[in-house]
Amino acid sequence: MILDGKRGLIIGVANDKSIAYGIAKACHKEGANLIFTYLNDAIKKRVDVIANEFNSKDIYKLDATNEDEIKNLRDEIRTKFTKIDFIVHSIAFAPKSALSGSFLDTTKEDFDIALNTSVYSLISISRYFKDVLNKDASILTLSYLGSNKVVPNYNIMGVAKAALESSVRYLASDLGKYGIRVNALSAGPVKTLASSAIGDFKKMLEFSSLSSPLKRNVTLDDVGKSGMYLISDLSSGVTGEVHFVDSGYNINAVPDFNIFNFRKEGEI
Ligand code: NAD
Repeated sequence: MILDGKRGLIIGVANDKSIAYGIAKACHKEGANLIFTYLNDAIKKRVDVIANEFNSKDIYKLDATNEDEIKNLRDEIRTKFTKIDFIVHSIAFAPKSALSGSFLDTTKEDFDIALNTSVYSLISISRYFKDVLNKDASILTLSYLGSNKVVPNYNIMGVAKAALESSVRYLASDLGKYGIRVNALSAGPVKTLASSAIGDFKKMLEFSSLSSPLKRNVTLDDVGKSGMYLISDLSSGVTGEVHFVDSGYNINAVPDFNIFNFRKEGEI
């Protein structure tokens, strides 16, 4: 199996709809040993069940905005396993009030929360975990097309994803000399706890399924398999990349005309 003998940390499972769950499933199928984190007690109950599904007893509390918790987790993992082979950073957060209406109204507080949770966490996790990563380790984060194109209501998260993708390139440059690769998967819309906070998300799902070249939305399995590829030795020469797994949606300049009811000639 592709990940036989590999061990990785999965950050961002909230339930079995989470993108991190899809990636964990694909990695488990290829033989990886998994370590899970949970944000709070409400989520822990669900993560316990999921860890059990993947034969893992390694579950740790982590609020990724708290550097002491990151350091404690790093120390516990070093004591127990010495080194690990991959990290999946599948977390993001912005207050719901910032995910609808006008981007112009973004408050400084919402900006700080979104960037701190969704971007700085990747930088500090990478820094603190550098010494517990094996020489050919891989760090993977999750992005979205709203980073470089305007998506209604995505607002501050678009700016956060732009900063995240840029951070991937700078981290890849810094960590390359240790043999550590850093990449992002840019997933198409998937119904999850986080995405349900985005205004009109159901319309986004419908629009992307109608206008994507593959004429469907991506599944957790699609995202999981691409994540497994970027984690594994199959992508040994790939770093600093943003890889789309979105049914091809990002290639469209203008979507398929057949999804619109165009005005008849003479109508305004
Ligand atoms: P999700 O709600 O299942 O997962 C988000 C996770 O972030 C949760 O497990 C939550 O506990 C965790 N989290 C939030 N704040 C945290 C903190 N301070 N410390 C530690 N963990 C924290 O939703 P998801 O859609 O699976 O999101 C995972 C990633 O995928 C996010 O980066 C999201 O932006 C990205 N993404 C999602 C979609 C989509 O349509 N769902 C598309 C592209 C990218």
